[in-house]
Amino acid sequence: MKINPGFLNLKDRYLFALIGQKVREYTAQNPSQEIIRLGIGDVTLPLSPVVVAAMEQAAEEMGRAETFRGYGDEQGYPFLRQAICRYYAGKGVNLTDTEVFISDGAKSDLGNILDIFAAENTVLIQDPAYPVYVDTNIMAGRQIKFLAGTVQNDFLPLPSPDLEADLVYICSPNNPTGAVYSREQLQQWVDWALDREAVILFDSAYEAFIQDPELPTSIYEVEGAKRCAVEICSLSKTAGFTGVRCGYTVVPHELVREGVALNELWFRRQTTKFNGVSYIVQRGAEAVFTPEGLQQTRESIQYYLENARLISSALEELGLWFTGGRNAPYIWLQCPGGMGSWEFFDYLLHQYGIVGTPGAGFGQQGEGFFRLTAFGRREDVLRALERLVTLSL
Ligand code: PLP
Repeated sequence: MKINPGFLNLKDRYLFALIGQKVREYTAQNPSQEIIRLGIGDVTLPLSPVVVAAMEQAAEEMGRAETFRGYGDEQGYPFLRQAICRYYAGKGVNLTDTEVFISDGAKSDLGNILDIFAAENTVLIQDPAYPVYVDTNIMAGRQIKFLAGTVQNDFLPLPSPDLEADLVYICSPNNPTGAVYSREQLQQWVDWALDREAVILFDSAYEAFIQDPELPTSIYEVEGAKRCAVEICSLSKTAGFTGVRCGYTVVPHELVREGVALNELWFRRQTTKFNGVSYIVQRGAEAVFTPEGLQQTRESIQYYLENARLISSALEELGLWFTGGRNAPYIWLQCPGGMGSWEFFDYLLHQYGIVGTPGAGFGQQGEGFFRLTAFGRREDVLRALERLVTLSL
C-alpha cells in the first residue's frame, strides 16, 4: 500500500493558522485593544429575504408526502439549471441547461474537475492566486508553471507566444488582487488556448461584483471561449451562500479534446461521484435568479462595494499603490516603506489593531503586498479607516 505522494508535497496551510496565532498572542498581551478584521474572505450580511422564503417553502414541501423529494438529478434540478441559463442569456451568452452542472460550491468543483484531465498535463497558475489551484494540482502530482502578476502588468498577466501549458486557471475578478481582465485581454487568453488546444478553467466566483459594463462577467462573452473554457462559479459571494453551499460549473458541448466532449466526461464523473445538492438549497439558489432575488443580492453587493470604495479612497489619501476594490471585494496594496507582507501585518496589528492578510500567503509574487477585504460590517470598516488614516509611513 502506498499513499498518494502528492499529499507529502503540500506546504502546511499555515497562513490563516499563523494569522490566528499572532492575533491571539497580541490580544493576550493587550486585552483592552479592540481588533478589527479586514482580512476575512467570508461574507457578513445575512441571506436575502426572497432566498429565505424559498428555502422555508422547500423545507415545508419536504415534510409533506405529496411533495417530498428524494434523490434529484446529480447535475442539479432543471428549474435551477434553466434559471442559470436565463441569467447567462441576460449577459448575451446562450447556454443549454445540459451545459450547466449544479455543485455545492466552487471549491469542490475546482478540485473535482481535475479528475477528467490526465496527470501528465502541465498546469499554468497565476501567482498570486487562490491557493486551491496550487494545492489540488500538487495532490494530483501535476507539473505546475507559474505566471507572475506584478505591478507592471497590473496583476493581469497575459500569454506570450512561447508560453506552453495544457490547463490554465484564470480568476477574474481575482482573489487576492481584485484585478479584472478586460474583454480584449481575455480574448488573448482564449486565442492562446485555442491555438494550443489548452483548456482554461475560468473561476468567476466574484463576477457579480463587476459594475463596469465594459468588463466581461463570463468568459463566454469572448469569441471562441466555448471551445476552450470551463467556467466555475459560486453563489457564496454573490448571494451570501458561504454557509448554504451552492455553485455551478459550465461545460459547453462545443468543448472537445482528443475527439471527446468534456461535457460528457464531466457528466460521467458527477453521476459517479456526486449525488447532487439538496432540494432546499437549490430552491434558495433559484430564488437568487428571480428579479426580486437579483435586486436583493445586488443591494448586498453594493454594500460591500461601498466598503471597498471607502477603503480605496483612504489608501489613495495615504498615497499607497493598490489595485482592485472597484469591480471586486478585494483590495491589494503594496506594503509601505518596502515592508514585507508579514512585517506589515505585524505593524498593522500592533500599531492599529487591524488584521489583514499578508500577500505572501498567495504565492511568491505576493511578498511585499497585502490583501484587505470589503466583506466586513460598515461600522468596522469605518473604525478601521479612522485608525488607518493616521498611518505614519
Ligand atoms: N474561487 C475563489 C477565487 C474564491 O475566493 C473562493 C472562496 O473564497 C472560491 C472559489 C470558493 O467558493 P465556494 O464557497 O463556492 O466553495
